[in-house]
Amino acid sequence: MVDLHGQYLKIKPEVDKGIQEVIDSCAFINDPQVKEFASELEKYSGSKHVITCANGTDALQIALMALGLKPGDEVIVPAFTYVASAEVIGLLGLTPVMVDVAPKTFNVTVENIRKAISPKTKAIIPVHLFGQSCDMEPIMKLAKEHGLYVIEDNAQAIGSVYTFSDGTKKHTGTIGNIGCTSFFPSKNLGCYGDGGAIFTDDDDLAEKLRMIANHGQKVKYHHSVIGCNSRLDTIQAVVLKAKLPHLDEYCSARKKAADYYSENLKDVEGIVVPEEIPNSTHVYHQYTLQILDGKRDALKEFLASKGIPAMIYYPLPLQKQEAFKEITRSAESLEISQNLADSVLSLPIHTELTHEEQDIIINAVKEFFKK
Ligand SMILES: *Cc1c(COP(=O)(O)O)cnc(C)c1O
Repeated sequence: MVDLHGQYLKIKPEVDKGIQEVIDSCAFINDPQVKEFASELEKYSGSKHVITCANGTDALQIALMALGLKPGDEVIVPAFTYVASAEVIGLLGLTPVMVDVAPKTFNVTVENIRKAISPKTKAIIPVHLFGQSCDMEPIMKLAKEHGLYVIEDNAQAIGSVYTFSDGTKKHTGTIGNIGCTSFFPSKNLGCYGDGGAIFTDDDDLAEKLRMIANHGQKVKYHHSVIGCNSRLDTIQAVVLKAKLPHLDEYCSARKKAADYYSENLKDVEGIVVPEEIPNSTHVYHQYTLQILDGKRDALKEFLASKGIPAMIYYPLPLQKQEAFKEITRSAESLEISQNLADSVLSLPIHTELTHEEQDIIINAVKEFFKK
């Protein structure tokens, strides 16, 4: 599904040298390079503050902790997402309220969020699924009307840019009150282990987020709130520093590969190719098709028989997950999320994919539908 080794070979001298220096210095934790990476990411994204942490799930948890919510407070989250987006809500004793997504973009819609708002609603977590921004302008407007916080789950869309109706452009993850991302190896900006970051323009929130990620302390051994221990280590920061200057290239390589798939697959009957909205760039963390008429699993098997990997992200919508049964308030039917779970199939996509490799995959998909 990804070719992390091919990508590594292109930046090997820099990465190897950086990692060796960390080992030689033994400054594995809190080396200045971690802060340097954070400030480079601030510059890249346009966010005033970037707080690095141990992974994307922690980023979401720390973001929610910084808002000072109370048990029973409701947080709106799409039903069609990776579990982490909603898991942290449950972990903190808050109530996830699941809403449905748009069938063609896989992203949560403002209409569905609006229907789910109750007097207990305190925050919304829009997830920029598969690499494309949710339509953030109306979501931000709705949040403002109701006094709700917006935490963007930007784990899959780092590098994506959203354009507002007045022409203003913003990176995903810098639009809401807080943005969260993950540097899991296969993410668009991946490190060589675990890593994450939190984005905000709000000085007060930034201070709280930093404190919570560091055992609730501002002054060493003086703990003013209950926090956690969530750090990006120096080796990961060094890898990310080497990769960040290539992020835009990585995104456009993914976009090019996605366009090539869509061009060649859009006319195949029984397939729906992913839809791009005009006001967001798409960085294609995943290239995800919908396979109609219940043929998804058969296509996946057919591809596997030819040695072509394909993955189902995600086979169960959140409302069907055992862990959420007791704690969720579902606002609506969530039928689209269920349909997507039954029909989506993601094809290999990464920065090193060639047209020749894609042709093999495309021809296999076409062959399946001709049978
Ligand atoms: C990967 C991912 C996360 C969590 O990131 P980790 O670094 O694995 O904890 C959260 N949300 C979404 C949508 C993700 O894809």
